[in-house]
Amino acid sequence: MTPPKASVFPRIEGLSAFTGAAAEADFAHVWHPFTQTSDWLGQEPLVLVEGDGARLKDETGRWFLDGNSSIWTNLHGHRHPRLDAALKRQVDRVAHTSFLGFSNPLASQLCAELAALWPAGTLERVFLSDNGSTAIEVALKMAAQFWQLSGEARRSRFVAFHGAYHGDTMGASALGGIPLFHDRFAAWQFPVQRVADFEALQKLSAQEIAAVVIEPLVQGANQMFVWPKGLLAKVRSWCDAQGVFLIADEVLTGFGRTGTLFACEQEGVVPDFVALAKGLTGGYLPLAATLTRQSIFNAFTGGPERTLYYGHSYCGNALGCAVALENLAIFREEKVLSRLQSKLIPAFHSALERHLAPLPEVYGIRKCGLMAGVEVRMPDGRPFDTALRMGSRICVAARAFGLLTRPIRDTIVLMPPFCVSETDLEEMAGAVAAAIRVCAAEKLSAIEEPVPSAGAGNG
Ligand SMILES: *Cc1c(COP(=O)(O)O)cnc(C)c1O
Repeated sequence: MTPPKASVFPRIEGLSAFTGAAAEADFAHVWHPFTQTSDWLGQEPLVLVEGDGARLKDETGRWFLDGNSSIWTNLHGHRHPRLDAALKRQVDRVAHTSFLGFSNPLASQLCAELAALWPAGTLERVFLSDNGSTAIEVALKMAAQFWQLSGEARRSRFVAFHGAYHGDTMGASALGGIPLFHDRFAAWQFPVQRVADFEALQKLSAQEIAAVVIEPLVQGANQMFVWPKGLLAKVRSWCDAQGVFLIADEVLTGFGRTGTLFACEQEGVVPDFVALAKGLTGGYLPLAATLTRQSIFNAFTGGPERTLYYGHSYCGNALGCAVALENLAIFREEKVLSRLQSKLIPAFHSALERHLAPLPEVYGIRKCGLMAGVEVRMPDGRPFDTALRMGSRICVAARAFGLLTRPIRDTIVLMPPFCVSETDLEEMAGAVAAAIRVCAAEKLSAIEEPVPSAGAGNG
C-alpha cells in the first residue's frame, strides 16, 4: 500500500482510468476540509461512489467498512430503506422553504419530538440550524443575550475545557482547546476562561460567567478523551449553585453513540442548552438543533431589541427534517438502543481488547459506547516521531484490509455505524491490528517514503 509518488505536480502518474477524471477535477479545483493539501496531492485519491449498510464502495469497485461512520455522522447505515423513502417522499412535496417567520409541518413536528426526548418541562424550545458549529454558535448567542436582557450583562464570559472541540466557525472555535487547530486564530476570538478539570472550574469566581460548555462523557476530537465518571454531574451542580448556564455539546455523543440516546442521561443531567447535529439525520443531511428552556425563550419576547437576530438560509430545511423524523422513528421502533447496549457495545469493546491490546505498539484504547480511540506509540511507551505520521500511515495501510477510517494524530478512531454485525466488528479490529503490524515493521524506512494522508488532523 505504498502510495505512488507525485510526478508532475499536481497530477499523479499511474491513476487508474476509472479514478482519473474525478481525481483530475478534484486536484484542480477542490479544497478539502482538515486535509493537508500536499498530502492530498501526493497520493492516489480515494473516490467514494456508493454505500450499502456499513460499507462504502470506491470508484474502482473496492468495498470498505465505514470505520468512522463517514466522519462520525452515520447511524443506521448507508442507503437505509426507511431514511431513503422519507427523503424521496419529501422531495416530491417541497425541498426547502423559508423558516424566517414561516413554518413547515416537518420542522415543527421535529422540534416537538426532540423536546419530548428530555424530561417534561425542561428543554422545550428548539432552534434548528445547519451543523454542529452553528448549533453551538446559537447557544452562545442565546446565553449572552439572555443575560443582557435580564439585567445581568456582566455575565458575559464563557468557560470551556482544555482539549475541547466545538466546531470551526469563529465563535465555536473560540471555545476550542486544541492548540494545533485553535491557537492561530486566538487574536480574533473572544476570550474564554479555560479549565482543565472540575477542580479548576470550582476555583473560578462565577459572577461574570455566562455559561460553561462541555462535551459530555467524551471529548471526541481530543483523541477520544473520556471524562472521569461523575464529572458531568459535578459540573451541573456547580452551575446550579452559581446560577451559571450549562451548554452540553452532544453533537457527537447524541443519538446513541455512548449507549444511551443522550450522553447526559448517564449522569442524570439536564443542561440549559444542548447542541445536536451529526447523527440527527442519521448521517444523511446537514441539520442541527439547539434545545433550551422555555424560561430562556421567554426573556426574548417583547420589542425588537429582544429579538434573537440569528438565522441561516436553510434553517428548518424540510428534507433534513423529514429524514430526522424518520431517524427518531427508527430509534423508537427498531430497538436500536437495546441492541447497542446488550450486543454491539460489549462485542466492540471485546474485539478491541482481543485484537489490539496485546500489540506492543498499542499504548491505550479509550472507549465510550460505540466509539474508540486506539493510541499507538513505540513499544517503550514513547510517542512515535511525528514525522513518521504513524496514525495516518496505519489508516492508509488499513484500506488494504478493507477498512476506512481516519486518525487524530497517532490515535486511530473507530466508530462504526450501528448496523454493523459482530463479524464486522471482528473484521474492523483485525484490520487495524494488521495495519499496525505492517506499519510497525516498516517504520525504520518509513521516513524516506512519501507522506501518506488519511488526514493529518482532526478525526
Ligand atoms: C463535529 C463536532 C462539532 C462540529 O460539528 P460540525 O457539524 O462539524 O460543524 C461540534 N462539537 C463536537 C463535539 C463535534 O464532534
